[in-house]
Amino acid sequence: DPRIEGIAASIRVVPNFPKPGIMFQDITTLLLDPKAFKNTVDLFVERYTGKDISVVAGIEARGFIFGPPIALAIGAKFIPLRKPRKLPGEVISEEYVLEYGTDCLEMHVGAVKPGERALVVDDLVATGGTLCAAINLLERAGAEVVECACVIELPELKGRERLNGKPLYILVESR
Ligand code: IMP
Repeated sequence: DPRIEGIAASIRVVPNFPKPGIMFQDITTLLLDPKAFKNTVDLFVERYTGKDISVVAGIEARGFIFGPPIALAIGAKFIPLRKPRKLPGEVISEEYVLEYGTDCLEMHVGAVKPGERALVVDDLVATGGTLCAAINLLERAGAEVVECACVIELPELKGRERLNGKPLYILVESR
């Protein structure tokens, strides 16, 4: 798709952020380019329209940027999957392993009904640990995760292999 090139070009790479050796993929520059931002949302909307998806679950924080416009366009509800102790209601939690230590995602109980078809949205997949936790939360609540959608994949980290066979759709590969 000819739109992909412009999207890829709009993503800034910041070396040594947040720590030495990391090449940080910065989507804030994509957001500064209205055409690239719109094309990003449009590509996802085109893929998921008519797929009977009733839930878009966005991962804190950058899944909160791309998830809601997709949800509105396909007529789905939006569920924020948040870092611990941010959601005020009753939650279910899923811990996942990071390079050093663990992190956790939480979802409100009752946000999704058993049998609902869900899409998980984030900006980037690296090791896949975050998406895996999101899939587990939704499945524990009885939802069917149809696919995960990210703007960027770091394919060398093989995050795809950690998604328990769930399909992953991405727009841009980065090295
Ligand atoms: P994973 O769990 O290792 O796949 O890491 C993915 C999570 O870390 C996502 O929520 C991303 O937003 C974040 N992340 C990791 N690396 C980057 C990056 O280079 N740019 C933006 N977000 C990143």
